[in-house]
Amino acid sequence: MSDPRRNLPSVDRILQDPAIQDLISHAPYALVIDVIRSTMATAREGGPLPTDWPAHVREGVARRSAPSLRPVLNATGVILHTNLGRAPLAPSAVSAIESVGQGYSTLEYDVVSGQRGSRLSHGSDLLANLTGAETALTMNNAAGALVLLLNVLASGREVIISRGELIEIGGAFRIPDILASSGAILKEVGTTNRTHLSDYDEAIGPDTGAILVVHRSNFEQKGFVATPKPASIAQLAVSHGIPSIYDAGSGLLIDVSDLGLTSEPVISSAVGWGFDAVVFSGDKLLGGPQAGCIVGRNALLSRAGKHPLARALRVDKLTLAGLEATLALYRDPATARATVPVLRMLCKNEAELKTEAEALAGAIPRSFQPDLVSGQSAVGGGAFPDATLPTTLVSLDPAPLLAERLAERLRQGEPPLVVRISENRVLLDPRTLPADSTSIVARALQAALEP
Ligand SMILES: *Cc1c(COP(=O)(O)O)cnc(C)c1O
Repeated sequence: MSDPRRNLPSVDRILQDPAIQDLISHAPYALVIDVIRSTMATAREGGPLPTDWPAHVREGVARRSAPSLRPVLNATGVILHTNLGRAPLAPSAVSAIESVGQGYSTLEYDVVSGQRGSRLSHGSDLLANLTGAETALTMNNAAGALVLLLNVLASGREVIISRGELIEIGGAFRIPDILASSGAILKEVGTTNRTHLSDYDEAIGPDTGAILVVHRSNFEQKGFVATPKPASIAQLAVSHGIPSIYDAGSGLLIDVSDLGLTSEPVISSAVGWGFDAVVFSGDKLLGGPQAGCIVGRNALLSRAGKHPLARALRVDKLTLAGLEATLALYRDPATARATVPVLRMLCKNEAELKTEAEALAGAIPRSFQPDLVSGQSAVGGGAFPDATLPTTLVSLDPAPLLAERLAERLRQGEPPLVVRISENRVLLDPRTLPADSTSIVARALQAALEP
């Protein structure tokens, strides 16, 4: 048998194939050439030559033209999965982004006066109304919003914070680093497990720029622990005339204690405690696009809005459109629960989840021997770390593959399906799957069986 590498076809000859010509009529020429050349290069190194060039080139072109950022099906049951883009948006937020994105907009234009308007005004009144604050400001993300406030209040000055709150959130977000990058001097008080109001009181001095209280996302402290109520710290700050900031982490705008979820502060409560500014993410429990919302006092927020860093951390029109539309849903809490996907997923009850799991199991190829088991979903994103969200999981037998191999194939499918693995079973949690995704999930599993 002759070595196929010795008689490699010329690029020109491949291009003359009518099927390839047909492909060139609707795919970028440069991409087609690129696929052919790179296949030739691998063949010269001993790689295989395609038996069906047109099919090979078509597949190569499709792979190369697929966007890098694309939708994924999340079957992990982790609602706020930071790696998977945190909050899925409500339909009204998506259409607001679409309509603002496809044309010009009032981003910095006041239609009444015909003069320049303020980007910072969009959604500001709504956010202030929903949280009971004097005013609101939106930055690129919560980390950025915090950096901005610390720069405004405490550059070169001391920021008092409890040792129990010098936390890492993940994704290299550490409170001490944020403080350092703002030029603020860390003034730690208390101990890891216990901090008292008197610790704050004693630390206040002429160099104090601000008191910072950080909500402990991601973990719960149990045992011999003590922290003053955030409201007492805010009041202490007020009585000394010192600015105070509360980093709430997740932007929970409505009370969800009826779901047994009580460990996250509702933003309006935090505002009521008396902090000058409360900071939170737009894409965690609030359920909107990535943003860093600040709500609080007029004087402070107006200073912050004029700081040079506010320009560096400003949000774009798509974010503002999506955020404003998401916030609008909160005018009626029941509407928010029904339409903001994060809240909708949080609210799914056990009966609903069981029905969804049954439908899913019924659609999945029998060879996986789908089985229903009870389990737990997670809120994720550092919010409600101790929450128990009972769910019904669809458990699959990956044989003849190992669970890891099946998960890998599912991940590499189109759309990618991200699953959980436990004891060599692949688990699907219906909580985070869209209602209409059953047949897509079934097809993804069918495709993963094919060699
Ligand atoms: C998530 C979180 C942040 C960071 O928010 P981003 O919007 O991702 O920048 C800051 N502080 C706390 C307490 C958080 O939970």
